[in-house]
Amino acid sequence: MPNAPVYKKILLKASGEALMGKQGFGIDVTVADRIAADIAEARAMGVQVGVVVGGGNIFRGVAVASKGGDRVTGDHMGMLATVINALALATSLRKLGINTEVLSAIAMPEICQSFSQRAALHHLEKGRVVIFAGGTGNPFFTTDSAAALRAAELGAQAIFKATQVDGIYSADPKQFPDAERYDELTHDEILDKGLAVMDVAAVALARENSIPIIVFSIHEKGQLAAILGGGGTATIVKD
Ligand code: UDP
Repeated sequence: MPNAPVYKKILLKASGEALMGKQGFGIDVTVADRIAADIAEARAMGVQVGVVVGGGNIFRGVAVASKGGDRVTGDHMGMLATVINALALATSLRKLGINTEVLSAIAMPEICQSFSQRAALHHLEKGRVVIFAGGTGNPFFTTDSAAALRAAELGAQAIFKATQVDGIYSADPKQFPDAERYDELTHDEILDKGLAVMDVAAVALARENSIPIIVFSIHEKGQLAAILGGGGTATIVKD
């Protein structure tokens, strides 16, 4: 019999970049399907899965602000981008027969349900994957912060931060091949060393709520299930 999962309720954070694949912009449906298959494996292990998706493959608020436009409007555009990504990932999950609900921090009832903690917990308990769209619903935040916020609200036992590489390094390993890879760190070490894993607000919120952050590669198929089964390759951030 396979091992019981290490965590029973998780919050997966996938950036917009993850959904983009090798394209320069937008969504690669093949990649969305692959990520959905990984989530389906976690569900098959009985793990409750919430997902926060980013929007950087479509729009970031700073793009407006850097050209002299209003940052708040830019951030609204970025939050809407996350809704597009959420709908794409939900579509991929439903193709696999996985019951999925999209809950948005910004009300748009014709498209998806609005977020509330009660609705999210209800769907998770029913075995549905819940995708959180619209970030925190507020400008000047990121979807990393949304991931930490939703994880705290739902009582998730870990945040799974999907990245381009297989853990946390002392520097970008693509630019610096000699960069040191960490197996384990504390939240404080991330903040003290200024490691670019998640933004500071997200790490601080995870620390305050004693939520571990598992950093792993989104490009390696089956990693999510492997880590949940007690193996796999990742950096674990915990106190
Ligand atoms: N955003 C926001 N508030 C939030 C989350 C996101 O204003 O709570 C906006 C912000 O403009 C951000 C964009 O949405 O640049 C896309 O989110 P993010 O950059 O976190 O996406 P990722 O880098 O994960 O793809």
